[in-house]
Order: sequence, then structure tokens, then C-alpha cells
Amino acid sequence: RSAKSCGDENRSMRDMEISNLKVAVRVRPLNAQECLNPSVTNIIQVDENEVTVVAGTTADSSAGVSHSFQYDDAFWSVNSDDPHYASQEDVFRSIGIPLVDKAFEGYNACLFAYGQTGSGKSYSMTGIETDDNDFDPKSEAGIIPRFCKEVFRRINSLKKTTEVEVEVSYFEIYNEKIHDLLCVAQLESNGGANPSKRSALRVREHPVWGPYVVDLSTHPVDSYAALKNWLTVGNSQRATAATGMNDKSSRSHSIFNIVMNLSEIDEASEGVSKKIKHTKRSKISLVDLAGSERISHGSTTGDRVREGVSINKSLLTLGKVIAALADSKRGPSAFVPYRESVLTFLLRVSTVFFK
Ligand code: ADP
Ligand code: MG
Repeated sequence: RSAKSCGDENRSMRDMEISNLKVAVRVRPLNAQECLNPSVTNIIQVDENEVTVVAGTTADSSAGVSHSFQYDDAFWSVNSDDPHYASQEDVFRSIGIPLVDKAFEGYNACLFAYGQTGSGKSYSMTGIETDDNDFDPKSEAGIIPRFCKEVFRRINSLKKTTEVEVEVSYFEIYNEKIHDLLCVAQLESNGGANPSKRSALRVREHPVWGPYVVDLSTHPVDSYAALKNWLTVGNSQRATAATGMNDKSSRSHSIFNIVMNLSEIDEASEGVSKKIKHTKRSKISLVDLAGSERISHGSTTGDRVREGVSINKSLLTLGKVIAALADSKRGPSAFVPYRESVLTFLLRVSTVFFK
């Protein structure tokens, strides 16, 4: 979703208004194991923006019953000869580019990948890292690197009278606790060896700017290469933390943020006396959510219970928040339970705009 950022205007957080929400679905191909299992058959069809699930086999009483669901977009990645086949590039063009547009217009926006573990969230968001930076149609780089690349492609073509500042931050939420994935001091002192021992960061609420993570490291970047470096650091931090922790990455949400300030400089003014005519500020959050299977399958012991509960809480709250936002009948003043989880509380700035 996208929302007008509060920019540099001193306005109340309560002055919010709901803006647009888009939902797309992506079907991943069967994996090698599924292909070898004769009982696994393809029961999904994708047509334009519709997905149809054909229930049952001939042995099943519900055979032939099908259910169709409509989305803003439906992506099929099973067979590249299929007319509805969507590559990483196609997915980015459909749902990533509109967010880049919004960012350059000064809006905040947020993109989530939601689904069970193994359904293709990280593939869609991060994809397969490549050294090749050109992202040709065959590259398997995901939405985040493509987004970063596109931001700098556009910055490089801006007029000389526009000054741009870009900042990146990357953190994860695990058991309702926030861990910085890019904190240089912590990386150095721990050598990256045991990220799980790092202290959790707190959330506070600024009277004007709203909720933020206290002491979260932010890093100015002036090129795609610099941005990509931070992305690689964060991804490897996430991977290190996941090792030996019961696949923690499937239980944590990762939030990659780009903040952009675009300032128009008065052409007549130069050097020290240059005047800023206008500043647009935007924040884009690209989120790889915890596996949605935790919603229904609670665990029974120790850490697993705590994990189950907090993932439940943030994914359930996210569901409630999105439902409240999407329910236009309730109007812009409807109660939206942002405060019920760290994830939704922090992402509130992406879902409201200031009148
Ligand atoms: P998740 O992050 O939801 O747990 P992954 O993104 O790790 O799932 O995907 C699981 C596996 O499926 C990975 O090996 C990934 O490369 C593969 N995969 C997922 N989506 C696609 C796709 N659209 N095309 C090809 N392979 C995919
Ligand atoms: Mg994943």
C-alpha cells in the first residue's frame, strides 16, 4: 500500500486517511521432491488476475469442484511457455515499479510477501543473488535488488536541480523483538558470529513522526553498489542468525527500508546560498514475513510456544489491520489495531497519510 508521507509538515499522526491497497498472488513451480511424488498434481490454474483451485481427484467426492479467487494480479511461474508465465522481471514490473513511482512522488509504501514457509516469499523478495547487475529478463534477482537498482537508475537521470539523499536500514522482528541487521558496531564486536545474542531494540513513538525503532542504524548510500552491499550484509546476518536456530528465518519478519529525500533547489541560487524550494520525503518498506503456517499450528514447548504466540500475534494483527484498511465502508476514521503488534505499529507510517 502507499500513503502520503508527512514530509516536513508538522501535522498530527491522527490526521490520517486510507489510501490504496493491492494484492497479487504468485504460484511457484513444483519443487524436485514434489515432481517425483506421483500423488502431487497440479490443481491450480492462473488466468489474468484469477486463480482457480480445482479440488479433488477422481477418488475424491469433491472431484471437479473448483474455486476461483480474484486478485489485482496473478502470477504463474510454472511453465515459461505459458502465456501467464511471470518472471522475476515481470513481477517487479507489475508490483515493484508502481512503488518506485510512489516513492519519487513523496509517498510512503509497503510491500509484504505473505505465505507458508517454502511458498516463495524470499525468492520473490530477494531472489537468487547474482553478480550480474543488469537484471536481464532471465536473472533471478528478486524485488528488493531490482527496486534498489531502479531507484538509482532514476536518481541518475534527475535534473541537476534535484538533490537526493537515500538511506537504508534493515531489521528483523523475532518474538516481537527487533534486531538490527546492519549495525556495524555490533557486527564488529561480535564478528557476526552470534547475532542472536545481540540486544533487542525498542520502539518509541514520536509525537509528529509516529513509531520508530530507537538506535536502529541507518546508512546513507549514493549508488546501487553501496545499497547492494548493505543488502548482502543484512541477508548474511539473517542467514547466520537462522543457522542452528530451528530455521529462525521462517519465524521472523525481515523489514528492508529505503528512505528518500528529494529536494528541489532554486536554480537561481548556487553554492552556499542555495535555496531549497521543496522537499519530498518517502519511506518504502519491503517485508519478507514469517511463514504463515504458524498461525494455525501452535507448538507446545518452551521457545516454540513463545514463537508461536508472537508470530500469531503479528500475522493475525497484520490481517486485522489490512482488513480494517480495506474495508472502505468503515471509512477513514475506522479503528485500525496497529498497536497490537510491533510489525503493524512500525509500519503504520506506510499506511496512513496526512491531510
Ligand atoms: P519462503 O521464503 O516462502 O520460505 P522460498 O522463497 O525460500 O520460500 O522458496 C522455496 C524454494 O522454492 C526455493 O528453493 C526457491 O528457489 C523456490 N522458488 C520459490 N518460488 C519460485 C519461483 N517463482 N520460481 C522458481 N523457484 C521458486
Ligand atoms: Mg524465506
